[in-house]
Amino acid sequence: MKVSNSIHLVEGQGFDSNMYVLLDDERGMTLVDTGHDGHRRYLVDYIKEIGQEPENIKNVILTHVHIDHSGGLSWLVKKYKPLVNVCEIEAYAIEEGDLELTLAGMFKGFMDETHVDRQLKHGETFSWGGHDFEVIVTPGHTKGGICLYDRKSKVLISGDTVFADGSFGRVDFPTGDAAELQKSLDFLATLDVEILLPGHMNAVMGDASRHIKTSAKFARMMI
Ligand SMILES: [Zn+2]
Repeated sequence: MKVSNSIHLVEGQGFDSNMYVLLDDERGMTLVDTGHDGHRRYLVDYIKEIGQEPENIKNVILTHVHIDHSGGLSWLVKKYKPLVNVCEIEAYAIEEGDLELTLAGMFKGFMDETHVDRQLKHGETFSWGGHDFEVIVTPGHTKGGICLYDRKSKVLISGDTVFADGSFGRVDFPTGDAAELQKSLDFLATLDVEILLPGHMNAVMGDASRHIKTSAKFARMMI
């Protein structure tokens, strides 16, 4: 689904997370999250449908290391050699093929070790396709989960921290923390967001701040 001229949503199939393709006319593509590796053909077909070549995937950013977001990383790296960008707090889980934090042990039984080229830090900016995405570390679902926020276009890529319609991420996986998630949601609720691009389920294409505020409120009642 085309979100804008420079952002496409590849909807998660089955166990896959949503994937976001960021297009830059000169530099190629950045992929945010890879999905589980079961639907690689679907991702490649989508990229070709929008007139791009998968060889032009230059970067992959993971919103967090769970296998439904990261399981496709190793084949992408082997085949297309993008640079891998993961939050400094949980990059080790990708480099060491950690079965616990990635949930690979629970769902798949293995996780390839993959080199992380750039460890993302809170507050730094990743610019691509005319967007300046600020890296915001939002612990709660996992300790090193990140959101990407473009203040100018009011776009928030939110991983599994916050979803549409008042939903939010689970806190019962390793390094999950309800109090931290509440803090993260309360912070995200202060941002001016029009477009919310979450790790699962529907994107929100207008007045997304309303959805995030509802999530922060519901979390306070439920967790
Ligand atoms: Zn997750």
